[in-house]
Amino acid sequence: MSSLPPPVLKPEIRYTKLFINNEWVDSVSGKTFSTINPCTEEKICDIQEGDKADVDKAVVAARKAFELGSEWRRMDASQRGLLMFRLADLIERDRVYLASLETLDNGKPYYMSYNADLHLTISCYRYYAGWADKNHGKVVPMDGDFFAYTRHEPIGVCGQIIPWNFPLLMQAWKLAPALAAGNTVVMKTAEQTPLTALHIAALIKEAGFPAGVVNIISGYGPTAGAAISEHMDVDKVGFTGSTEVGHLIMQAAGKSNLKRVTLELGGKSPMIVLADSDLDFAVETCHFGLFFNMGQCCCAGSRIYVEESVYDEFVKRSTERAKKRTVGDPYDESIEQGPQIDPEQFARVTRMIEEGKQSGAKLMCGGKRWGTKGFYVEPTVFADVPDDSSIGTEEIFGPVQQIMKFKTIDDAIKKANTTKYGLAAAVITKDLDRALTIANSVRAGTVWVNSHNTFSAAMPFGGYGMSGQGRELGEYGLANYTEVKTVMIKISQKNS
Ligand code: NAP
Ligand code: MG
Repeated sequence: MSSLPPPVLKPEIRYTKLFINNEWVDSVSGKTFSTINPCTEEKICDIQEGDKADVDKAVVAARKAFELGSEWRRMDASQRGLLMFRLADLIERDRVYLASLETLDNGKPYYMSYNADLHLTISCYRYYAGWADKNHGKVVPMDGDFFAYTRHEPIGVCGQIIPWNFPLLMQAWKLAPALAAGNTVVMKTAEQTPLTALHIAALIKEAGFPAGVVNIISGYGPTAGAAISEHMDVDKVGFTGSTEVGHLIMQAAGKSNLKRVTLELGGKSPMIVLADSDLDFAVETCHFGLFFNMGQCCCAGSRIYVEESVYDEFVKRSTERAKKRTVGDPYDESIEQGPQIDPEQFARVTRMIEEGKQSGAKLMCGGKRWGTKGFYVEPTVFADVPDDSSIGTEEIFGPVQQIMKFKTIDDAIKKANTTKYGLAAAVITKDLDRALTIANSVRAGTVWVNSHNTFSAAMPFGGYGMSGQGRELGEYGLANYTEVKTVMIKISQKNS
């Protein structure tokens, strides 16, 4: 950590307008909204509020940029890759500023913004930059006298709606594969965290992307977000957020033009701790699995199943660890936990803690508001959580850990799979044989063994069941931004 460069403590706010067609514009309605510092509950600044009229303008720009013969459509794929490498270099140049701004708008610890969010963001753009000229089709030996091949083409104008928990990273996960495949984009950022995405927009222009390729709209879900998912001239919508809104996105796509839909939604991810594991390691891994990013992770390890013989000791040490968790100013390097994002999330987390207390679960520590200012919640641990309680089945999205017991491996797998979700899972053990049995049996898009929250731009991420549709990252993520065209050419000369 000693090599961490110091943050910019009062990062200057450079961009507050909408970014349409490579220009900064005011909203058509003239409306603005405030973005709030979740540590102080004070306003940071006012932001132009985009809604349907602005989305319409952005879609026109994105459609024009996508027209046959446009600069973007005629650009060599390798050149597209080069623009993306340039963008990654510019983000690296501004890394301290961007990490500082992310912490200001979101409340996450600066060392996490810098080391985790910015690192993964930059590597995501670089990973997909490399794909730009490698996303190719195949020549297929079909029956008859044909030369037959597939072409990988961009889908068109992609609407993208992102959440507030990892603003820069979710923007990268969406923009990078879309751009590598040659699409154009209209993106709506989360109303809680508009700031860093606007700085990225400025860097996109600086890198040299043609006008209209990327358009960024700050605004609200039911207005700007709905306008994207209902739009007749948007070819695809990529969404990350709640399962509840995921339903609305699919319905809107179904009611409008059957646009392609990918969804990355909620989860209630199990972590299975076997008795043979190093207990301190297991406790720390599960602590990180849940408390990272104030528990505001779609893949948070929020159901921990511990083998009976080590259960009591695991609960004791997990409670001690949570009590030691440092809460406070996210710019202070010794602080592990900042505030929740907003009053709604704070209220939701504290309501679920109350439900947990009433469910018969044992509150081991925490459970209250931390401090008097900001949306802080104490690190909270529940043990003996009933399988069917709301805290045992529903996403909390806060610093609240649930610990339960299991007797046999079959029992653990059954409990892990008793959920409507299926985003991620983890196994902690030294026994690779049992780790693989569990990894193969758990219904989840990602399974970590002796790890949690490990991400690579090269490895796909997404959910089974109600955790989503499709995959992001890796080669599979690229496929969700690609149309496959079949071309069959009749050959009249029959020589071979
Ligand atoms: P959310 O409403 O699903 O927000 C995600 C994004 O969708 C935001 O940009 C949001 O805009 C937009 N949105 C909201 N309603 C929409 C609509 N009708 N049409 C199109 N877009 C719409 O999530 P939230 O309310 O911020 O958080 C609620 C819960 O969602 C959390 O407690 C957590 O369980 C889950 N969540 C999951 C993730 C994840 O990474 N999978 C991330 C965030 C939240 P606004 O800015 O107006 O909200
Ligand atoms: Mg919302």
